[in-house]
Amino acid sequence: MNRFSEEFGREPAGRWAAPGRVNLIGEHVDYADGLCLPFAIAQRTVVLAAGRDDTTLRLRSVSERDTVEIDLDEVGQGSPAGWGGYAAGVLWALREGGHPVRGLDLLVTDTVPLGAGLSSSAAVECATALAADDLFGLGLGGSPEGRRELAAACVRAENEVVGAATGGMDQAAALLATAGHALLLDTHDGSTRQVPFDPADAGLQVLVIDTKVRHHLADGQYGNRRAAVEKAAATLGLPSLRGATLDQLGGLDAELARRARHTITEIARVEQVVALLDAGLVTEIGPLLDASHASLAGDYEVSCDELDLACTTARAAGALGARMVGGGFGGSAIALVPVARADVVAGAVRAAFEAAGLREPDLIDAVPSPAAARLE
Ligand code: ADP
Ligand code: MG
Repeated sequence: MNRFSEEFGREPAGRWAAPGRVNLIGEHVDYADGLCLPFAIAQRTVVLAAGRDDTTLRLRSVSERDTVEIDLDEVGQGSPAGWGGYAAGVLWALREGGHPVRGLDLLVTDTVPLGAGLSSSAAVECATALAADDLFGLGLGGSPEGRRELAAACVRAENEVVGAATGGMDQAAALLATAGHALLLDTHDGSTRQVPFDPADAGLQVLVIDTKVRHHLADGQYGNRRAAVEKAAATLGLPSLRGATLDQLGGLDAELARRARHTITEIARVEQVVALLDAGLVTEIGPLLDASHASLAGDYEVSCDELDLACTTARAAGALGARMVGGGFGGSAIALVPVARADVVAGAVRAAFEAAGLREPDLIDAVPSPAAARLE
């Protein structure tokens, strides 16, 4: 007997999967109307589900101990607490949007690694959203416009039910990405464009180095950086730093100027990477990844020793470029590595972490993959 029927005493109506993501470049600019360039990866979260005629949600995950049982009417800010908020919140947000959502039985089986900076949270949300779309006949999953609406419901779930202040990058990547491409996301207007990105075709791979550390300093620093760039924009009399130029920064105090310089130069680096990828010059983006890391570490001050070590070691062992990804103060870095050097780079990173007395990092091959879909 399968796990779903063991849990719920009935068969699932289908299986839906949503991928994790890696942001190639464009870090800490989504709250400044900036550009980012995520791609979906092969690691994915799978949900089995069946609709119900009542409004009960029964949620299980093989990755979590807690079982969740809640009426849709009871879902809201902070309810249910814990992991169930990600899935239940999506149903809630769709219903708030006027869609005819009812209850369901849902089991999460496979998962994107949790908390590795690969966005397991958006993967649960987006797989649940697609399941609801099919089971309740919402008709949103078949078009980019419909998928944008599903993505917006997932963002609401995470912001309003879970209470995590995230932008829309993760959900856009999980629902709109295509294989062999990165997704250029303009957070000023939410528009997206597929940009060719097929590292294997150029003899390369994107290696994710999960340092498995998270420094407590991280708490509060996100809000602090966000406030700094908003203050910088306001001081310059601008709605955001999008479109601001470096020569405008002279009047700001030194720290604000450095924060703003990161935002402005990072947005420019995304544009440069996109131009190179459009021209088929994927092997040339390495220095821009390095410059992104230098800016995040120097001007934005969100790196840490472990992330710096991962990047410098990867470069010294043959990576074309490397940078920290995500919020910083721990989490993961990425390195663009010639396939022929992949084992050497991985070995060097492991050895460097061991020599520094650090935990062994997890190394993950990130391959640009398709968006969320129904399976079978
Ligand atoms: P990430 O970078 O992986 O998205 P988050 O902190 O945003 O990290 O989200 C991780 C949380 O998402 C987990 O603590 C859990 O509550 C929820 N989650 C992710 N994947 C699963 C899963 N497979 N089953 C249940 N909950 C999950
Ligand atoms: Mg997340």
